[in-house]
Amino acid sequence: MSPYDLGSSVQTPQSLVDPFGRTIDYLRVSVTDRCDLRCVYCMSEHQTFLPKAEILTIEELDRLCSTFIDLGTRKLRLTGGEPLGRRGFMQLVEGLSRHLRSGALEELTLTTNGTQLTRFADELAAHGVRRLNVSLDSLNPDEFRRITRGGDLNQVIAGIDAAQKAGIAVKINTVALKGSNQADLPAMIQWAHGRGLGITLIETMPLGEVEEDRTDQYLSLAAVRADLESFWTLTPLTDRTAGPARYVRVEETGGKLGFITPLSHTFCESCNRVRVTCTGELYMCLGQDDRADLRAPLRQDATDASLTAAIREAITRKPKGHDFKIERRGAAPAVARSMSTTGG
Ligand code: SAM
Ligand code: SF4
Repeated sequence: MSPYDLGSSVQTPQSLVDPFGRTIDYLRVSVTDRCDLRCVYCMSEHQTFLPKAEILTIEELDRLCSTFIDLGTRKLRLTGGEPLGRRGFMQLVEGLSRHLRSGALEELTLTTNGTQLTRFADELAAHGVRRLNVSLDSLNPDEFRRITRGGDLNQVIAGIDAAQKAGIAVKINTVALKGSNQADLPAMIQWAHGRGLGITLIETMPLGEVEEDRTDQYLSLAAVRADLESFWTLTPLTDRTAGPARYVRVEETGGKLGFITPLSHTFCESCNRVRVTCTGELYMCLGQDDRADLRAPLRQDATDASLTAAIREAITRKPKGHDFKIERRGAAPAVARSMSTTGG
């Protein structure tokens, strides 16, 4: 019997286990830093993107992901920037789907802004993608255009329709933004649940330089939750993931609602994940700057031996927890790289 038959947190001799005994079996990989949108909390309006030579090729991304899978990664999330905007992305998904068929990988999923899902949903489903996170911060076309600096809401809604039609379960990710989508959050939750979609609210994180002040964007989810509880009954659910989301059922809508509060430390003890940027830097924690270069071993050693050694060494440096703060007005971001580089 394969050790994988026993479930996702099983340790094998190959497994990556950090100094705190956490099995690292969840990998997020950013496949590009580029995007067709410019969300105000994520990028600056005139974002400069990385030179192509610095970005891992599709073949390198496949080798990197496959090496992690050999080391026990069970869940793989591809993100960006906008993953569906990366040239050759479908080739990568098709290639990685071999690990789903072999049973080595439990789940292959992506986080997308949804603008190109009408084109790609069927292909994603055909390659074994069963779930998608679609980021959507407003159902008001004008506010959506403002937040994304030019995005077309209808394109994203059509994309969600296409994904659902293809049999892919969609979860909506909504960043809670003070004074922006704040008043519309209950309507968004109702809309999502009415379509059979889960929805997760996210607090803004101090990642990268953007034009707006973080303290102006930051909306505490504790306050949002208290507001929702003034008219809905939220029943905590026990299906906690190893990640930062905590879930409730909204009794009135019957749907599932998540809260991601990255600024709290409540999830670090069970953290099972690491992230790789589109340039091949492995970050052991989203909120810390310590990292390991995986691009050099990928490019300098065709055998994967150096890559495996570099990954193993980096995991010995995974910190116990992060160090986010949004305190002082005008303060520099806690972490200089943006989410579009690290991969959300
Ligand atoms: N472009 C894709 C998308 O928007 O879904 C994938 C990449 S995006 C960086 C991944 C997620 O990170 C999105 O849900 C986005 O809302 C979130 N995100 C970006 N910057 C953030 C920030 N500073 N704080 C909190 N969430 C952020
Ligand atoms: Fe692009 Fe996603 Fe960042 Fe918005 S959040 S700018 S869609 S990468």
